[in-house]
Amino acid sequence: MNLRWSWHAETRDLFETLDPDLWQSCGGDPVRALGEVSAERLAALAGDRRFVRRLTDAVDDLEEYLATPRWYQSLGAEAPATIAYFSAEFGITEVLPQYSGGLGILAGDHLKAASDLGVPLIGVGLLYRAGYFSQGLSADGWQLEHYPSLDPHGLPIKLLRHADGSAVVITVPLPEGRTLHAHVWRAQVGRVSLLLLDSDIEENAPAERLVTDRLYGGDEDHRLRQEMLLGIGGVRALRAYCSATGTAQPEVFHANEGHAGFQGVERIRELTEAHGLTFAEALQAVRAGTVFTTHTPVPAGIDRFPKALIERYFAGFGVPMDQLLPLGAEEDPSKFNMAHMGLRLGQRANGVSELHGHVSRGMFRDLWPGFDEGDVPIGSITNGVHAPTWTARELVEMGTQTSSQGDSVYVDGPVHFDGVDRIPAAELWATRRQLRARLVDEVRRRIRETALSRGATVAEVGWTDTAFDPDVLTIGFARRVPSYKRLTLMLRDPERLKALLLDPERPLQLVIAGKSHPADDGGKKLIQQMVAFADDPEIRHRIAFLPGYDIGMARYLYWGCDVWLNNPLRPLEACGTSGMKAALNGGLNLSIRDGWWDEWFDGQNGWAIPTADGVSDHDRRDEVEARAIYELLDNQVLPRFYETDRDGIPGRWVEMVRHTLRETGPKVLATRMVRDYVQALYVPAAGSTRAMATDGYAPARTEAAWRAHLLHHWHDVRVAHVEATGAGDTPEIGSTVALRAEVELPGLEPADVEVQAAYGRVDDADGLHEVTTVPMAHEHRDGSRHWFTATVPLERTGAFGYTVRVLPHSEYLADPAELGVVSTA
Ligand SMILES: *Cc1c(COP(=O)(O)O)cnc(C)c1O
Repeated sequence: MNLRWSWHAETRDLFETLDPDLWQSCGGDPVRALGEVSAERLAALAGDRRFVRRLTDAVDDLEEYLATPRWYQSLGAEAPATIAYFSAEFGITEVLPQYSGGLGILAGDHLKAASDLGVPLIGVGLLYRAGYFSQGLSADGWQLEHYPSLDPHGLPIKLLRHADGSAVVITVPLPEGRTLHAHVWRAQVGRVSLLLLDSDIEENAPAERLVTDRLYGGDEDHRLRQEMLLGIGGVRALRAYCSATGTAQPEVFHANEGHAGFQGVERIRELTEAHGLTFAEALQAVRAGTVFTTHTPVPAGIDRFPKALIERYFAGFGVPMDQLLPLGAEEDPSKFNMAHMGLRLGQRANGVSELHGHVSRGMFRDLWPGFDEGDVPIGSITNGVHAPTWTARELVEMGTQTSSQGDSVYVDGPVHFDGVDRIPAAELWATRRQLRARLVDEVRRRIRETALSRGATVAEVGWTDTAFDPDVLTIGFARRVPSYKRLTLMLRDPERLKALLLDPERPLQLVIAGKSHPADDGGKKLIQQMVAFADDPEIRHRIAFLPGYDIGMARYLYWGCDVWLNNPLRPLEACGTSGMKAALNGGLNLSIRDGWWDEWFDGQNGWAIPTADGVSDHDRRDEVEARAIYELLDNQVLPRFYETDRDGIPGRWVEMVRHTLRETGPKVLATRMVRDYVQALYVPAAGSTRAMATDGYAPARTEAAWRAHLLHHWHDVRVAHVEATGAGDTPEIGSTVALRAEVELPGLEPADVEVQAAYGRVDDADGLHEVTTVPMAHEHRDGSRHWFTATVPLERTGAFGYTVRVLPHSEYLADPAELGVVSTA
């Protein structure tokens, strides 16, 4: 039941030994395999001393993994005792299909890496009875969606029960006096528990039973109920879990995207009830411990509900409506915006790559009026991927990744990639070929199955036995199919692509996969177009669209593809993680410089497709970028792959593979990402939580009062006058300028503000660049007028400028821009 087997090959080997054929037919699902293996076989294995020894080893290994102190245990007492991590989807293994794409896989990798590092995280999500959907294709290439119902009793999860054995039942109030009930299933992800709420239980009326039917389906009403269950029910499930297991209640709540925003509302409600705080006071305490991660730069990707719907659902919830609604306020007064609520409820927020952080600061800047984009308090932590899940075993075993002790076994702790330099090129190349050949086998199996499911007869599918070639350059393209990802960009010039596929000297082959959202007919048309192209008997042995993209298929693609193609419309890919998984296996990326690739493309780990960002005509932009892809393939990728030495080894290609493993590998790790979250966000958030909670939440009360007071007086705050002395007419580098500012602070005290001198280079339009800020000291006052001073060094030649700005100051602010107010000279 512990899902650590999903990233621990030795444990999977052991399950396979139970019955190799059964293991195959069960799709590598140990719960199913154990349920179906015969009693005779089990009895025989119980008497097999070698098997029993291996079993004991696996058990010991797991117990040691669960018990020994890890990285997190070396942190001091300031690290939070428990962190709750909320997400609408979790992709841990194909056996637990509770994800639609990158967001869920990322959440799964976050839990696994947290487990490896010993981070005391608890995941919170929903158990969807049909997952997202399973994808098929009709004869004419149209996506078919199937919703097979999962039986939770056949999944590697356990029901959360009270000490008396009865199931824990969580309730969430609905309008018209109805109540939504849910069971809580617990999945064990190594050291990390994942709680999944399930509404398909007898206590519910038929309509409520369907709340957790499937991921991202249904209308607004349905989505809102799901999100209420996730957020409100999620907090209640956490409370029940922590008290049932004696776990410390979370000090930090991390919302992975906006879907779980109501967790903050529930925690506000709890504090108002248990400690008599007002909504505003409770908000201070809740924000202090909340981390919000935004994942989309696509406005259409943001969850928004009609305000009227929120009013209806929260009328009897127990928080004042006139305080709740402003949390989700946005440009459109009739809408309630979950991302905006996430940002208002989270004192700390981040995007998922440097570029996405920048785009998010621009996209959400209206929440912090008065500040430049660069000052908007949204940082970035670039996503990562879980190496033990995604790296081909062969590569690990040959020593591309080693632990600090030098073990080349599956690595859970800190990973080193220097070992890759000791591997001879011939060996590295042989392994890459082996992985490509395994992908080819898998592709053949799948295209045969797909052809049969689309109506072909057995006699007609013989060609699949020899389709694809283990020695041909293999390119992968797999991802969800929203329009910005441009699935069909490569079909822009079909004749040119065909020529590349069929080139007699240096051909390429393409494996394509991806699901379209069931309601997105545009996406389904793109898939249909792709399938029609790949159906052509002339090229079908070199290009295939494989239905059913999931973790189980993705693995083969990341292991076996030589090149990972990604051509989103920049900058709409927030990060992208599939290319990282390819890189961990020595795959070279061929990608638009978007998301993570903008940050870590280094000239030797692949190729950057030049973007036509400035071209506003989409059709023209597609034309330019598609042509760039063909040219790169023709002039750089293909020659390098097929340029081999006497031994048949493409030396320069192998060097790029080696470089990618050594240099890109360590950057893309989920353990790097989770460490960043711990250090930059979780530890500071725990500090803020504790500070707010001292003396029965006294600081939350004073902080709320102070903020209201400050904002009330802010429109009268003014920088009345600034004078500079010391620079003279021809300032010299190394000299200083003394600044003195007169600031009006009616109703406020100097301690309520930070007055800053900001200086830097001035452009022709009087804009300030490369700004440095220094705090100014309070010199004296005359009533509500105050004088502040600072000395500013002249460190640069050229036009120099300065200004003075007044910002709110409190020890409880995580960022001076937090309140969205500033007064500038
Ligand atoms: C990694 C992964 C994704 C996300 O890939 P992107 O590059 O972010 O689109 C989606 N689905 C599966 C199965 C994956 O493994």
